[in-house]
Amino acid sequence: MDVDLMLPDVPPGPLELRMSRSSPGRYAMHEFAKNVVDVRVTDAQGTALSVTRPDPHGWTVRDHGNSVRVRYRVYGDRIDGTYLAIDSTHAHINMPAALMWAQGFELRPAVVQFDVPAGSNWKIATQLFPGPDARTFSAPTLQYLMDSPTELSAFSVRSFSVPDGPRTPVFRVLAHHTGTDAELESLTGDVERVVREARNVYGEFPAFEGNAYSFIADWLPAATGDGMEHRNSTILTSPGAIRTNRADLLDSMSHEFFHAWNVERIRPRSLEPFNLNDENMSGELWLAEGFTNYYGPLVLHRAGLTPLAQFTADLGGALNAVVTAPGRLVRTVEEMSQMAAFTDAATAIDRTSFDNTFISYYTWGSVIALGLDLTLRAETDHRVTLDDLMRALWRKYGKPGGARVGYVDNPYSNDDVRTTLGEVTGNQALADDFFRRYITGHDLMDYDALFARAGLIWRRINPGRASLGLLRVQDGVNGGVRLAAGTPFGSPAYVAGLDRDDEIVQIGDVAIRDTAGYLRAQASAKPGQRLPITFVRNGARQTTTVTLEEDSRRELVPAENAGATLTDAQRRFRQVWLSSPVRNGF
Ligand SMILES: [Zn+2]
Repeated sequence: MDVDLMLPDVPPGPLELRMSRSSPGRYAMHEFAKNVVDVRVTDAQGTALSVTRPDPHGWTVRDHGNSVRVRYRVYGDRIDGTYLAIDSTHAHINMPAALMWAQGFELRPAVVQFDVPAGSNWKIATQLFPGPDARTFSAPTLQYLMDSPTELSAFSVRSFSVPDGPRTPVFRVLAHHTGTDAELESLTGDVERVVREARNVYGEFPAFEGNAYSFIADWLPAATGDGMEHRNSTILTSPGAIRTNRADLLDSMSHEFFHAWNVERIRPRSLEPFNLNDENMSGELWLAEGFTNYYGPLVLHRAGLTPLAQFTADLGGALNAVVTAPGRLVRTVEEMSQMAAFTDAATAIDRTSFDNTFISYYTWGSVIALGLDLTLRAETDHRVTLDDLMRALWRKYGKPGGARVGYVDNPYSNDDVRTTLGEVTGNQALADDFFRRYITGHDLMDYDALFARAGLIWRRINPGRASLGLLRVQDGVNGGVRLAAGTPFGSPAYVAGLDRDDEIVQIGDVAIRDTAGYLRAQASAKPGQRLPITFVRNGARQTTTVTLEEDSRRELVPAENAGATLTDAQRRFRQVWLSSPVRNGF
């Protein structure tokens, strides 16, 4: 893509041009300068200006006049929510991956003009403000410009509007995909149910700039699965299609739309404004992402789009991941949030101990949201719920908005959430205790008791089955199975001294030749049994002794699906929890 940047009214002194190093909603470094070539900096008359390179992402122009013109080419071949992708069917543009900008110009408005390839029938999907013609748009600030990904292609569009007090915002689903218009039409009906149900949590929509919200989708075989939230739009990418992956696509849409409140407007102070020059560290992602991860599926279920058994299976999967992960005792969920710079689509060539020291703040945060919601409901008979906390955060931190478009004037901190939870419950001691134990501590809530209130059973998946621990294995090179990840702290394999890359070739007197044999050897043993294990490490055969434990994994199932009978109280609890929170006065 050719980019032509005109900067008028450049003040005297060095002009510092930058490519972003990160992108709103992504917390690691992505170093977008790497794909920029052929940078030419001139004055308005086309005379070349001399440029120095202070760092890998900067171009500095010391001597210049009133206006400066910058031209360059940028490469991109990744269809997701973070990067740039250009091919003969579209230009899928995430602005930080494409646009150079000038330090100190952050509050200036920008005009963006898109030139589509000659002869193409590409249209333009974006939250940028419409301009005087169909290819010209504007952004009031750099923050808004960088938050406005744009898809240029022959996409299909469906839309609907939902009256909301004095406003009637328009919602568009714009899909560059391999499916049919009828499929998009049908999906859009479900999206409308999601949009209405998400509003029921907060009682109102945000005031979308332009009174519109766009779901911009690239559902193409070449796409990478991703979803990225923005103020008035989301980018949704998947190699799947509506026909084959409808539930997954809707799940992603529900999650991203919830972000229109939670993170876009109810915004962590640590992310406001987003720092395009560096990684962005936030101790609040357990709420920003984790609570959104709880609500995405909850909204889908409340909207009648997922069956109960699937909803509970997904909750159980998340809880299982947290309960069985040794990392819970190593870092708190606040500290996990602060790890995003290293884990959020971040890449490194050296190995890490994350298998043992990291749990996704999406997963742990969603499990905390679930536990808090059930606790509040149990203790107040549903008078106070997690919906009330989200609504209170919305009123205090989200709804007031920002004086400048793209900014949030009243962002929150973890302390603000603690205080707000105290206000909502009328019990600051409860809120302080919740934070001390579960946000800045390592405790787990009593999920068995909480689930029982809702008639759900949290049970072992393989009762009585012996296990070496939750190990990832793959076929090895010595005829056995190789441990593909670090052995979990405290697991039988860890205690026996087994580690990543060890290749197990014998358990007891059974030779291990593949994953199936590895699983069979455990299934035929008993928890507590001691067995010799032969393994190959760095080319040398060694033997150790392992004491097997019971398979620790659990699943969450509706009691009636496990042969039990729901009590009236359980039925009512579950029904109130899983139905729309539209109540008196709301
Ligand atoms: Zn998210």
